[in-house]
Amino acid sequence: MSDLNVVSISNARIPADPFVARHLIDGDWRSSTDGATFERVSPSHDAVVTVACRGNLLDVDAAISAARRAFDEGRWTATTGKDRATLLLKVADLIDRDRERIAFHETIESGKPISQAMAEIEGAADIWRYAASLARTLHGESHNSLGNDFLGLVLKEPVGVVSIITPWNFPFLIVSQKLPFALAAGCTAVIKPSEMTPATTVILGELLLEAGIPAGVANIVLGFGDPVGAALTTDKRVDMVTFTGSTAVGKAIVETAAGTLKKVSLELGGKNPQVIFPDAELDAAADAVVFGVYFNAGECCNSGSRIIVHEDIAEEFVARTVALSRLVPFGDPLDPSTKVGAIITPEHNNKIDTYVQEARATGASVPLGGKVLEVPGLRGRFYEPTVVTNVTGDMPIAREEVFGPVLSVLTFKTLDEAIALVNDADYGLSAGVWSENVHTCLEFARRALAGTIWTNTWMDGFAELPFGGVKQSGQGRELGKYGLDEFLEAKTVTMRIGKNRE
Ligand code: NAD
Repeated sequence: MSDLNVVSISNARIPADPFVARHLIDGDWRSSTDGATFERVSPSHDAVVTVACRGNLLDVDAAISAARRAFDEGRWTATTGKDRATLLLKVADLIDRDRERIAFHETIESGKPISQAMAEIEGAADIWRYAASLARTLHGESHNSLGNDFLGLVLKEPVGVVSIITPWNFPFLIVSQKLPFALAAGCTAVIKPSEMTPATTVILGELLLEAGIPAGVANIVLGFGDPVGAALTTDKRVDMVTFTGSTAVGKAIVETAAGTLKKVSLELGGKNPQVIFPDAELDAAADAVVFGVYFNAGECCNSGSRIIVHEDIAEEFVARTVALSRLVPFGDPLDPSTKVGAIITPEHNNKIDTYVQEARATGASVPLGGKVLEVPGLRGRFYEPTVVTNVTGDMPIAREEVFGPVLSVLTFKTLDEAIALVNDADYGLSAGVWSENVHTCLEFARRALAGTIWTNTWMDGFAELPFGGVKQSGQGRELGKYGLDEFLEAKTVTMRIGKNRE
């Protein structure tokens, strides 16, 4: 048995009947045209927790037709900012009302701890409220500096029909970083959640109907990347694809969307470094490192999976991190005390283990964890909180997204060396710096190649602040006013005015 802090598994709270998930098309709940379904087995409890309709090309066609019709007939674009805001606020209230139910399904489908699922749902409600505020302030520009004969207007118009494709790791949060902004802008949508975690998006569909969304404005098609996701990126009636998921699928979407030159916005993977200087508040840094790597079992685009520590403090800092990691409660995601839950699939668990064993075989040390945790009857669905030291910048564990509770430790001597390690990466999602010297923090913030820089903190997010990546972590931004802009086109109206019109 492990000497780590394991929370035991109980099957007691898994419902006997699985959640039944159907497509939402044109305001109706529908089965697939061919009646096909698929099952989701809970990663932690080994029970079928959801039976979902398995979408096909006819289902996608019906959903896109409904979204297109709703857009073209002006069912949504004709509404005022006030109307849209009222609906988004109603949805936020309904999310608050149903947060325990949503969090429960999120947990049993994804394996994440229930406390983290609850925080995610509360954060999502806040985003719906923020997007409501943008709906009421949406405006363009007027230019009266064009001389006496001209007035220029820039109208901000909705892009049109949007495909929203989401991953399994934060299904409710991520659809909430896209859909309310698309709706605030006046777009209509077809949403495809991950095949691993369809339930919470279906619950969101229920809440949208209860809030009074017009038929066809938000549609949901359940199923797999092939054929549902792919069809949502190629159909010419779709104007934009907003995707969150792996860099590999993001690249495939850029190719398939090119056929009709759709607008594409991508939120992809990360290999996020935190640099720790000797003058940092080391207790706070160690707490944040432990939180940052084990949050959502490391299955997080923002996972702080790579720390770069000054060599003068490396030994002491690793000792603190290992000691704190040993205390992290992991195991049953439904237990409120659990901080690290189950890994999404046994195959993914094996992949995590391969990274660790390869690093060990090529000279790295593993002072903590480093193996699949055997829980009777659960076929390798948990991975031990793991710290890997003596990692060099060329090892796959330092360069690729491990997507598990595994921390890689590298060391540096100078700021330039630290920045070089930070920027020697294909990804550029987020990066962090720990130092009490504001000049060090600012220099790091300017030179690190990432969409988000955290200084003396990790993973704090606000609906007001944009989020997104550079390099192979993506293109476009979510949240903040930038999150609304993604769903808007600028239309120029040049008016000849005044006496000299003829
Ligand atoms: P994934 O790329 O395997 O799947 C994401 C979605 O794309 C799923 O709904 C899937 O069915 C669909 N899909 C698969 N193939 C497709 C295709 N050819 N065309 C269209 N859709 C297709 O990703 P995942 O495993 O669900 O999620 C984990 C990944 O997501 C990680 O790389 C993680 O870093 C990334 N992620 C990024 C962010 C961010 O904001 N940057 C947030 C969360 C997750």
